Amino acid sequence: MSGRIHQLSTQLINKIAAGEVVERPASVVKELLENAIDAGAKSITLRLENGGMQLIEVSDDGSGMGKDDARLAFVQHATSKISSLEDLGAIQSMGFRGEALASIASISSATLHTFDGSSQPVAAKVRNNEILVEQGDARQQGTTVTIRNIFANIPARKKFLRSATTEYKYVYEMFVIEALANPDIGFRLIRDGKPILELRPQDMLAGRVTELFPGLDSNKMLPLSFKKEGLQFSGLIGHPGIATSVAAQQFLFVNKRYVSDRVMNKAVKDGFSSTISRESKPVYFLFLELPPGEVDVNVHPRKLEVRFLQPGQIYHYLSSSIRLFLEKVLQQELYSNFRRNEPEPTRIAGTRDFAVAGPGSAVKPSIEFTRQLLGHNSQPEMMLPELKFDQGSISVVDFNFLQIFNTYLVTEQGSKLLIIDQHAADERVKYEKLQKQFNDNTVTAQALLIPEHYPADEKLKILVQQNLDLLTRTGFKLQIQQGKILIAQIPAILQGRDFLKTFTELISSLRLGKLNLSENSAILDRVLATIACHSSYRAGFKLTHTEGTKLIADLFRCKLPYSCPHGRPIIWEVERGSLEKNFKRKK
Ligand code: ADP
Ligand code: MG
Repeated sequence: MSGRIHQLSTQLINKIAAGEVVERPASVVKELLENAIDAGAKSITLRLENGGMQLIEVSDDGSGMGKDDARLAFVQHATSKISSLEDLGAIQSMGFRGEALASIASISSATLHTFDGSSQPVAAKVRNNEILVEQGDARQQGTTVTIRNIFANIPARKKFLRSATTEYKYVYEMFVIEALANPDIGFRLIRDGKPILELRPQDMLAGRVTELFPGLDSNKMLPLSFKKEGLQFSGLIGHPGIATSVAAQQFLFVNKRYVSDRVMNKAVKDGFSSTISRESKPVYFLFLELPPGEVDVNVHPRKLEVRFLQPGQIYHYLSSSIRLFLEKVLQQELYSNFRRNEPEPTRIAGTRDFAVAGPGSAVKPSIEFTRQLLGHNSQPEMMLPELKFDQGSISVVDFNFLQIFNTYLVTEQGSKLLIIDQHAADERVKYEKLQKQFNDNTVTAQALLIPEHYPADEKLKILVQQNLDLLTRTGFKLQIQQGKILIAQIPAILQGRDFLKTFTELISSLRLGKLNLSENSAILDRVLATIACHSSYRAGFKLTHTEGTKLIADLFRCKLPYSCPHGRPIIWEVERGSLEKNFKRKK
């Protein structure tokens, strides 16, 4: 048999391509907004009817098009953005395939009204696969693309659309993404004739975030910016204290493209490390910029993933920068608290504050820094300055505390009442001490008089073998033998504790480390956190005055005194003012 193979018609090709590009109204909105952005628009209006199913219209004040370009805009693989293979490796624009408009027009009725500011205004439309171009009404420079009744002629696709409300929700999400990626552009959203959002052009991301998420406390949004050999990332991260249970405010952009990438998001989450609990979702708006050649944007048009040349490096860079940043910020907060508490007009007899010894001038720049960082008028693109204070110069003189329920330590600090969870506090202290010893290779170990046998199958032995170096550095000495692991030495702080139980838990935390990236600090964190947890004061344990004092003092020398290595809170602060309100001393 011959003649079975034949070339498909353009119409059919476009429809098939449309299946790739256009899934629902939101995908049309994405393409049209990005075209307007690529055209250099400063102001963009999106109008929708019936969740976009009936009408999607995007008007911009960008470059506009002349007659010939207006025709070509609807032709498959026609683009003004690239012309050679080399261009593909250096893309600056959002679009480049030249297939969006052609695809969209093949599954809807599409019209275009455009003016390039010099030739004549043009009106173009696509009807039954034919492109009709004529002179258009007078208009400002720019372009309006109107898409009506998507999928009207393709029932098989139409039935996958959901209710107008659901489609609108998707469109809205897309609108937010484009608005976040382009704070310098003004955006308007009009739904079924009603104005929904009017976003003014902003010089800073922070302004746009506030417009879009008025519920976010702008004082808790921390600007950050890091740079390293061609790699750069900047944006805003929410203070760990505002992390929530839903991941509603997590936005990550790579070269201005929104991505939803598991590894990237994990990198950010790991950067928050122990400042939030494992279930909490941090808030962030982050922009990663890297040379176009380092990232492949030519993946599927609708997919929100990216392919990096060096994913492990990016992961590590993101997570370690965020971790460093948060450590500094939280430490600064703590020290500025100390500082603020200094002169107190009224004192309750018989109590003393924490005292700050050493030169006040050394602490001051850091307070200024914190203020700037947390204040409204902070600079979004600020780099972190070197911190000046010397931890050794801050000493805790003496203070009163009360242990209650053999579990909490109650004390005061300036104008605050502090309730400290003794187990969580001790965990934090031990964890940071271990971390330091681990990094300096000075973990103290204790040899066992009689080595312990730990039963182990093949899988377990491999797991231990793979992590032997890490376990050895934490103080364990292990020998892998037939059917068992011999434990000859343990970290000294586990002495007198149920170290077999600790070991069991350690092993299960190793199993959790699925992400196999070169420097996986998350696994180490878990290992150290487990050892710290198992060696800390338990709830219900009566502390002596010396033990309690030392614990509180040690806690305030920690880098992250507010949350335990598992992310649970350590300190509950009650403002003196709120006590006074409760006792009706003040209103
Ligand atoms: P791509 O964006 O991948 O180039 P599209 O099909 O989205 O492909 O658009 C085709 C071409 O039409 C673009 O390359 C651009 O030259 C032109 N174009 C589309 N929308 C606009 C617009 N709003 N303003 C100016 N030119 C536009
Ligand atoms: Mg495009």
